[in-house]
Amino acid sequence: PTSLHGKVAFIQGGSRGIGAAIAQRLARDGAAVALTYSQSAQAAEALVSAIEAAGGRAVAIKADSANAEAIQGAISQTVETFGRLDILVNNAGVLAIAPIEEFNLDDLDRTLAINVRSVVVASQAAARHLGDGGRIINIGSTNAERMPFGGGAVYAMSKSALVGLTKGLARDLGPRGITVNNVQPGPVDTEMNPDSGEFADALKQLMALPRYGKAEEIAAFVSFLASAEAGYITGASHLIDGGFSA
Ligand code: NDP
Repeated sequence: PTSLHGKVAFIQGGSRGIGAAIAQRLARDGAAVALTYSQSAQAAEALVSAIEAAGGRAVAIKADSANAEAIQGAISQTVETFGRLDILVNNAGVLAIAPIEEFNLDDLDRTLAINVRSVVVASQAAARHLGDGGRIINIGSTNAERMPFGGGAVYAMSKSALVGLTKGLARDLGPRGITVNNVQPGPVDTEMNPDSGEFADALKQLMALPRYGKAEEIAAFVSFLASAEAGYITGASHLIDGGFSA
């Protein structure tokens, strides 16, 4: 699998979980990968070492997605390091859950900054470098389509914003041959949503396939969207959720 040979990918939030699996997969498929993190320096450096040990090229950059200048700087650094940019993956995300009566407004601002504003900022910065065949891939959530519990209103709102953003960006960038897509996972076993967590059994009961997804399953789909074969797919949101919203 070398379909991304010669490509350069920037993964916003790639130190752990789904983002780390995407970094590993895109590197395995031939791309040079820049991944950002805010806290998990050790995990990010270990991932870079693993990619390099497997013969790939990677760099980890500390850049808080709540900080626009940090994102812009990380994208510039990626282009300086690898000479170009072909694929932007916006994966960084946070989950704050509380009943609306108790929802903390700092959590509202942080959710919007990381889950939504960072996607606009990174897309704008990346658009200056992407060429024909370029890709923007957002990681949304099945919760944009179905939020079956209380407490998740703000998270669902943040992921719903990506549905519209993806459509509009596809219109802005389509004339330049750049596609924009939104991947909407269901429950995936990560530190954000562990398969052993208190919600796991309740979530499985809502699904057509009563199991958690693996980060690698999301990464495989992202790799396909990044490939030349997916060049006619744009402006779309794609559920990959075990039938959570079926
Ligand atoms: P994790 O919490 O396991 O990992 C989150 C990743 O994002 C880490 O690499 C983290 O790095 C990075 N990140 C978080 N905040 C920031 C920030 N401010 N700046 C830079 N990087 C940041 O989450 P998942 O892997 O589970 O989730 C990844 C994405 O998938 C999110 O957008 C999430 O909403 C979405 N998703 C997850 C689902 C699930 O069930 N797991 C289901 C549907 C969607 P660091 O530790 O360095 O901050």
